[in-house]
Amino acid sequence: MLTPHEQGILLGAIRDIPDFPKPGIVFKDITTLLSNPEALKVLMDHLEKRYASYGLDYIAGIDARGFIFGAILADRLGVGFVPVRKKGKLPYTTVSQKYSLEYGFDEVEIHIDAFGDGGIAAHGNPANVLLIDDLIATGGTAKAAATLINQVGAKCVESCFILELGFLGARESFPTPVYSVLTLD
Ligand code: AMP
Repeated sequence: MLTPHEQGILLGAIRDIPDFPKPGIVFKDITTLLSNPEALKVLMDHLEKRYASYGLDYIAGIDARGFIFGAILADRLGVGFVPVRKKGKLPYTTVSQKYSLEYGFDEVEIHIDAFGDGGIAAHGNPANVLLIDDLIATGGTAKAAATLINQVGAKCVESCFILELGFLGARESFPTPVYSVLTLD
């Protein structure tokens, strides 16, 4: 559990940018958390402690801000890191999932062998994967990413976000357990 003091450090390190990328959206800017060594350490210590006993094999981070937190955590836990990328960026054979945006569609993909052959880890069972991103809003992006992980034979054991926009209710219909470090109601 974060102490109220630690929670204050994290909330204070995330900057609100009104009307970005379009009018009416308040963009939660985590670049100010990344450039604040005290806040970044509080966050990564907290995540390391939470996930140390999960028996994870991989951490999958969502393009692009999920790469930053995911790669740091993977290194701390001594497990592999897998990027879930926007369409067209990965060089080898991929599987992909479309998801709807407010207007139109977007698509994420992973390498077919991202978690080993058939998603089976060295222990002989489906690889245990933690999905991570900076923020969950409607949940469309993360849901597509979790689907991909399971589609290639691995197991998405939890989805983790630094910040959850709780008033959008994404966790209610989410296919995996959801953990958010901070929630805005
Ligand atoms: P969603 O698919 O609606 O859950 O949107 C999540 C993705 O969009 C994440 O990769 C976020 O980084 C980004 N995102 C959505 N809304 C915001 C916001 N208000 N501030 C910052 N990033 C956002």
